[in-house]
Amino acid sequence: MSARAVPFHCPYCADEDLRPHGEAHGAWECRSCMRAFKLSFIGQLNPATLPPTTHALPPTAGAEHHERRTS
Ligand SMILES: [Zn+2]
Repeated sequence: MSARAVPFHCPYCADEDLRPHGEAHGAWECRSCMRAFKLSFIGQLNPATLPPTTHALPPTAGAEHHERRTS
């Protein structure tokens, strides 16, 4: 089983300019914030063991504040 994860965004600056870092497996570097990091797969979650609150994000998460200043 190969679980090769490809990050789409830098976990530090959220930039998308990610490239493989050297020859190491799962090592990536961000050319935006110049950080190198490693991704490793820990394991699969079992939904039965998760508390029900973790299934859905609260509706307030990432809520957009519509602040319109019309002055
Ligand atoms: Zn970055």
